[in-house]
Amino acid sequence: MTTEAATPKRTAKEYKSDYKPVWCPGCGDFSVLSAVTKAMAEMNLPREDCAVISGIGCSSRIPAYTSVYGFHGIHGRALALATGLKVSRPDLTVIATGGDGDGFSIGGNHFIHACRRNVDMTYVVMDNEVYGMTKGQASPTTAPDWDKSKLTPQGTGVNPFNPMAVALASGANFIARGFSGDPNGAAKLIVEGIKHPGFSLIQILSPCVTFRPEQRDWKGVVRPAPVEATDDSARAARRLMTDDGFNTGVLYYGHRKVYEPKLEEKAALADIEQGFAI
Ligand code: SF4
Ligand code: MG
Repeated sequence: MTTEAATPKRTAKEYKSDYKPVWCPGCGDFSVLSAVTKAMAEMNLPREDCAVISGIGCSSRIPAYTSVYGFHGIHGRALALATGLKVSRPDLTVIATGGDGDGFSIGGNHFIHACRRNVDMTYVVMDNEVYGMTKGQASPTTAPDWDKSKLTPQGTGVNPFNPMAVALASGANFIARGFSGDPNGAAKLIVEGIKHPGFSLIQILSPCVTFRPEQRDWKGVVRPAPVEATDDSARAARRLMTDDGFNTGVLYYGHRKVYEPKLEEKAALADIEQGFAI
């Protein structure tokens, strides 16, 4: 592993690839890409020691747009892939990225158990309360009365999933919310998430300007959480169950033991590694 001291200070631009994002003009994901690369630059992470892993969706294209190692996986499986990578290569900084549909619907089960396992990695979820890539269907975080999708012309009629409360209940060790309209603030949260041991969830409100144009108004309602971050899970539960989804900042940090593979699992991983080497 390259030491930080030996690595010349990099700029955020150096963590971006040469591929031009295909996102719609004005999509919040542009700013989240900037936030991710700013965070890497802020930590001066050696690119060869970093991996960005995703599933499927507009926001899941981020691995292609970064210059670190990456894997654009299959729908809902970003966390399964990221977990496998991190336990076999604990020296790497592993960041999983994706959207609300990928992470909380198809990937919902992986999400719960990634929080529970508490492997040391960071999950950046660009939440726009819609399936953008498949052209605007309701996602798990869509409000019940959103009626603009042809599939749900009268709204879904069901309460949205609360990823933050579920993350807390499932054992996530760090829970924060950012906004794409504040990429510097989002980058700061990503840095904190990476540095905090265990599984970190960073939800970034990231407007889908094509299918949810009204989300442009989020900039008028997003605000810093009015209270300090807490490590009291009961207090955090009350906040996460009652906030309106627009409070940003670190909302919870825990002290749970980070998952580490047991000796026999390490031996199995070594066998696999040897197999690859043959
Ligand atoms: Fe962004 Fe929405 Fe366009 Fe996807 S469909 S690129 S989420 S604006
Ligand atoms: Mg989405």
